[in-house]
Amino acid sequence: MPEIYIDGQWCAARAHGRREIRCPADGTLVAEVDDGDAADTAAAIAAAHRAFHDGPWPTTAARERGDLLLRVADLLERDRATVARAESLDTGKRLVESEYDVDDVVGVFRHYGLVAAEDAGRVVDTGDRDVASCVVHEPLGVCGLITPWNYPLLQTSWKVAPCLAAGNTFVLKPSEITPHSAILLMRLLEEAGLPPGVGNLVLGDGPGAGSLLSTDPRVDLVSFTGSLAVGKVLMANAAGTVKRVALELGGKNPNVVFADAPREAALDMALTAVFLHSGQVCSAGARLVVEESIHDEFVDALVERARLIRLGGPFDTQAETGPLTSAAHLAKVEAYVEAGIAEGAVLRCGGGRPDDPALAGGFYYLPTVLDECTSDMSVAQDESFGPVLTVETFTDEDDAVRIANDSIYGLAGAVWTSDAGRGQRVARRLRMGTVWVNDYHPYVPQAEWGGFKQSGIGRELGRAGLEEYQETKHVWQNLRPEPQGWFAGS
Ligand code: NAD
Repeated sequence: MPEIYIDGQWCAARAHGRREIRCPADGTLVAEVDDGDAADTAAAIAAAHRAFHDGPWPTTAARERGDLLLRVADLLERDRATVARAESLDTGKRLVESEYDVDDVVGVFRHYGLVAAEDAGRVVDTGDRDVASCVVHEPLGVCGLITPWNYPLLQTSWKVAPCLAAGNTFVLKPSEITPHSAILLMRLLEEAGLPPGVGNLVLGDGPGAGSLLSTDPRVDLVSFTGSLAVGKVLMANAAGTVKRVALELGGKNPNVVFADAPREAALDMALTAVFLHSGQVCSAGARLVVEESIHDEFVDALVERARLIRLGGPFDTQAETGPLTSAAHLAKVEAYVEAGIAEGAVLRCGGGRPDDPALAGGFYYLPTVLDECTSDMSVAQDESFGPVLTVETFTDEDDAVRIANDSIYGLAGAVWTSDAGRGQRVARRLRMGTVWVNDYHPYVPQAEWGGFKQSGIGRELGRAGLEEYQETKHVWQNLRPEPQGWFAGS
């Protein structure tokens, strides 16, 4: 069965391109899939444009759109095992993590299934009884949705669910490295009754299949999750047709630990913050910013635990984390660590590939701790997107805030302290879209997600996530139209 989905039909890539998908855990062939290009994307945009402008999706009752999303949630629950397995084969992540991801995705579809139905406008009180004035929400139109490889299905759900809830049509372009969960989701949307043309799926690489979504005048919004470098390109491209742009970009997230932190929890979560999914998490706590007085004891304990982390493939139930996603990404992480050491960082553990022969076929990299970093080093500034922790120290609260905020990014961060007032104070001073106090990584679909500074533009999730896919319109109705007489002689 072909894997590109345009106007309600599954079709092969127009130029007959095929791409091999290999599991990063051992290099085995997962499958070959269609590999499309701009011709496929142009056809998908045409279908989405027709489905939006001819309807009826944008004017379908919001409750019906919500019901469709709730059916998708049920279907995902039914197919949880299949979808999770596909996600693990593409990404190399542990099966249990893919299962959590599918559960999260079910929650996202349920959230927007309900939000869609509650999306009333508001009445504006003008003070004039002869005027009816209201603010209503309208769908934007055709949305280009471009997603990355680290949480392929989750990132896709954060876009597809609010996009449909608001009454838009879309063209989805998942990462060429991890396309399978998007293909499965598209099948479920079809099964749930999505009308032809409302949702379209194109496969292929960014410059070939994705770029047109940022330049074609028929596309109204390009919503992108991925790297800062590509985000800048898309933003510049979108300027040509003044498209709406939503960008969820990178992060270099500080995990600030005060001397009075609840020690065991802070230590345990410092490991989770950076080594979960081998650091391939946009909100990974990759910068440990620790109070000077506890630095030696805290970092020694952390290094000891990091050395014990078990690496393994998706179906190894003893594994605690998995491989990097590709040979190219592994090479990038290796170069990043070498550059850090050359800059003066002190390697405390890791810093290379594991020597276990059972892991030789995969793209594994050992959990790595680089100590004695300062925030002017590139190793403390650039996103490695790998299992690499940099360590910096601070002397007092102001120093901690200054160091933590010293970044072009502002996606997420955490503060650990037993002083509740300090936790709140520091959380408010950190220039980031999400701040955890005495925790790391949790998120809920009901709360907004997004970055400050160069971590992005716009918000996903929560009510604001729906607003990213809407225009807001003021409708003023004069209930007693009469001549005004401004130009009495006319
Ligand atoms: P990437 O930027 O290389 O690719 C992301 C997507 O963009 C892929 O689908 C790719 O094919 C496409 N693309 C690449 N060039 C393109 C172009 N010229 N035109 C159109 N599309 C193009 O990112 P990645 O390596 O897949 O993902 C890792 C990055 O994603 C990290 O920087 C990470 O921080 C970020 N990320 C951010 C969030 C967030 O919520 N802020 C979440 C997950 C990942």
